Amino acid sequence: MVRIPQHLIDWDARQTAAKRALAEDRDYPARRPAEDELADAPVSFRGPAITERQIPFVQSLYRERDLTGLSPKLRALAEQVARGELISFSAARRLLDHMTKLPKLPDDRRPASPGQLGFIRDLAGERGMNPTEQQLAGMTFGVASSMITRLLRMRKSVNGITEDGIYRTPDGTVYKVQVAYHGNGQLYGKRLVEVEPGVWKFVRDEGALARLAPSMLMSLEEAIEFGRLYHVCVRCGAILTDEDSIEAGIGPICRQYF
Ligand SMILES: [Zn+2]
Repeated sequence: MVRIPQHLIDWDARQTAAKRALAEDRDYPARRPAEDELADAPVSFRGPAITERQIPFVQSLYRERDLTGLSPKLRALAEQVARGELISFSAARRLLDHMTKLPKLPDDRRPASPGQLGFIRDLAGERGMNPTEQQLAGMTFGVASSMITRLLRMRKSVNGITEDGIYRTPDGTVYKVQVAYHGNGQLYGKRLVEVEPGVWKFVRDEGALARLAPSMLMSLEEAIEFGRLYHVCVRCGAILTDEDSIEAGIGPICRQYF
């Protein structure tokens, strides 16, 4: 006795399930694109069509692989799929078999992947930038990957703040915004707190940047004014003790680096 090949049984099982789903008017993971999507596509084969998962796979291989090793017939099939036309399931299988073995195009000749573009959008957004769709559309794989590296090195902007420095909120609270040089290179904030009368300390404040705006960056004049008033160096938190340093309003080294 000859056994029925398993793939035929599987095929029948899928067809039956699909027919039942159709009869019951519910969605079934379609082997073919929806009928209305097919309406305009020229179909020149009988039997099952390329699946919805095969279509984007062929299309991405078409963009990313060096097609010179493909036979003219297979190349024509790949072009059909790239144009959005349907081919048969068996042709798609054969095509994918060959295309997955083709070498990738060099980085500067294949387009950026959708994953890269999504990542660039997110990274740029976090850094207060907004790349246009046109810029993204023209990007090669190589440009996109160096762009990602560049963006990762850039500081995230929180509330538009990209600069370290001393900030003061309208309620008079002083914050120091610093770069985490030994960490992720991102900005973080510390709040100047009078821990006991006359003793000031910068304490780490995770929510600091969310409370600040670029316009709150203190000028040297404002820092001096603050120091004369509270007898503290606004940059390092040191107490200004003698008359001269109080008059200066800021420590000599901090003034230099302000
Ligand atoms: Zn100081």
